[in-house]
Amino acid sequence: MQMGNQSCTINILIQKILDDEKQYDMSKIISAYEFAAKAHEGQKRSSGEPYIVHPLSVAFILLELGMDTDTICAAMLHDVVEDTDVTLDQIKKAFGQDVAMLVDGVTKLSKAPIFNQDEQLAENVRKILLAMSQDIRVMLIKLCDRLHNMRTLGFRPGFKQRKAALETMNIYAPIAHRLGIKAVKEELEDLSFQYLDPYAYSEIEHILEIKKDEREKFINSIKERIAERFKIENFEKVPQIDGRVKSIYGIYKKIYIHRKDIEEVYDKYAVRVIVDTIPECYTVLGIVHDMFTPIPNRFKDYISTPKANMYQSLHTTVFGREGIPFEVQIRTWDMHYTAEYGIAAHWKYKEGVQNNDKMEEKLSWIRQVIEAQQTADDVEEIVRIIKTDLSTDDIVVFTPKADSFTLPVNSTVIDFAYRIHTQIGHRTVGAKVDGKIVPLDHKLHTGDIVEIMTTKDENKGPNRDWLDIVQTNEAKAKIRSWFKKECREENIIRGKQELEREFKHYRMRIPDNEIEKFLADDLKRHNCNTLDDFYASIGYGGVLLPKIMQRLKDNYVKLYSEPADPEPIVPVKPQRRKSDSGIIFEDTLRNVQVRFSQCCNPLPGDEIVGFVTRGHGVSVHKKTCPNYLSSVSAPENADRWRKVEWTETHKTDFHAMIEIVAIDKVGVLQKVITVISDAKTPIQNSASKRMKNGNTIIRATIAVSGKEQLDTLVAKLSKIHDVLSVTRIEGRRGLW
Ligand code: MN
Repeated sequence: MQMGNQSCTINILIQKILDDEKQYDMSKIISAYEFAAKAHEGQKRSSGEPYIVHPLSVAFILLELGMDTDTICAAMLHDVVEDTDVTLDQIKKAFGQDVAMLVDGVTKLSKAPIFNQDEQLAENVRKILLAMSQDIRVMLIKLCDRLHNMRTLGFRPGFKQRKAALETMNIYAPIAHRLGIKAVKEELEDLSFQYLDPYAYSEIEHILEIKKDEREKFINSIKERIAERFKIENFEKVPQIDGRVKSIYGIYKKIYIHRKDIEEVYDKYAVRVIVDTIPECYTVLGIVHDMFTPIPNRFKDYISTPKANMYQSLHTTVFGREGIPFEVQIRTWDMHYTAEYGIAAHWKYKEGVQNNDKMEEKLSWIRQVIEAQQTADDVEEIVRIIKTDLSTDDIVVFTPKADSFTLPVNSTVIDFAYRIHTQIGHRTVGAKVDGKIVPLDHKLHTGDIVEIMTTKDENKGPNRDWLDIVQTNEAKAKIRSWFKKECREENIIRGKQELEREFKHYRMRIPDNEIEKFLADDLKRHNCNTLDDFYASIGYGGVLLPKIMQRLKDNYVKLYSEPADPEPIVPVKPQRRKSDSGIIFEDTLRNVQVRFSQCCNPLPGDEIVGFVTRGHGVSVHKKTCPNYLSSVSAPENADRWRKVEWTETHKTDFHAMIEIVAIDKVGVLQKVITVISDAKTPIQNSASKRMKNGNTIIRATIAVSGKEQLDTLVAKLSKIHDVLSVTRIEGRRGLW
């Protein structure tokens, strides 16, 4: 980015447009300038400069990114609707629908202060993401707007500086990173860092400054040596060699995260070689490794496995003269533009074409975040989403066939399974990392080869517990949506009960015919069209009652003007359902599709009841199932709970889970497994966990023909020396 602190004028902008190879509609841009200059006439920035300098500078930065005429015009006009009397209609008449739409988007974004105490934060982040998904240019204008504001932040009062710097570091820089716009990202980070930790900033700046001559001499000599060598190799076009220093914040992160002394930051010095083709990249790598000694384990091939934001390059760190290490980055020109300008680079070359693949990939990420977000009602969740999904730290893991996948740090094998395919996620029963079996909550690391073990059972679904394990919102959303689809009928009933229970606890009495009206806001907030949709959302966990009850109570007090009652004495914890499935026959409803309930996992021999769902047949529960017990007396369920029985013959492969607590001694696990396999009850999956008190808990899902076989097995297991207890687990619980 060239425009530093000097103020931009229309003449500088015009000159820049003339210098550019790209075609621009100069007269449209100039009239946008005149329009904005007139509207902002008399307004001043905190720096004392005329206001128009700001939109001009924003337009200039976008021009540097190679954006199109409409984006430049919208940048010029981005503050007029908010700060002057001009209306959106006037802009539409003068500059067309596209420009008006962009200005509208930016205006809406500006009205959304990101850091707010209450749940408005969720709303605001949603606005940003929506704006991005509709037209990414809105976000690009906003980023450049923020960049110029950060460059001129010195003129604002101190508390505003800190607030803006925090917001920039937490939201805007990560977004720029996600969109791959490194030039903007690094400057935003450095500018924020300067306000957030001025001492560290100036220390690093100072060290870089005093070594400046030394550094330049060093980098120049390296460049010369490489250039000399290139002359004797056969390149069609001579590769370009640049020297560079890492950004100040980049160096700070290395020092801070890896606790290195600044002298030890290896890639503080860097040389970049840009060539025409991918084969040439590897040729250059060979030459560099031939000329200098590479540092082991520092080579990274982001060409064959690009980063999540599309970044591609070869990185290697080698020793230079006197053993001073430096990093070499090797890439093609195409990769270079993508690295520097990211999503904007694709406008540079394919103007206005939005549906190329890379673009789609980026937009699909944004859509995923929005999707995951629609159900999130609390601020912590939103902040978590931003932190993980916008995280600058990714890991790259592989399938056994060497396909690579990029995931956020701390992703588990379940995240990986869902990333491969939704169905694979649903049917996951176990996983291997580098050939070894790991628990499902195992956190993955870069370079892991991950093999997912799935069941052929088409009815297999995820566990509720997985929601607490997974890291990506993609996986979370897919798990939630499974529960949403799979058991809507039950969800509605559950959700209704849960809400009624909460109403009771909060002493809220709302007439039945007023409930929908009372909840209207919440229905809208959670994208529910009907009251049933809302109940269903509560049922599957999309709407978390503890997060909304206080607000509902406040509304209730306002609307029904009763004196506030004391707080509920017993906190209500929503119960979660577990899943399994199978087939049985029963007498009263023959030829009906039958499923096992998710919650109590009945086995032949258990006393059972059936729940008639709408459109999904009958779901079978144990008579002791808490869900049955709590809903059977509700009048609306009167004819839906039906007697069902096991027939004489039924299929014999049922799954049950048992939990064994044993003293943690050598061989106890072996004994348990021997007893299980002697009983001819195959283990589907199992996991064990060592407790602090010296005991081990083993959980295993086993295949049994019915209750009798299970009871026999439990009795045998209980007899093992060192086994303290054996219990059948109702429903399906995760194996950690
Ligand atoms: Mn602005």
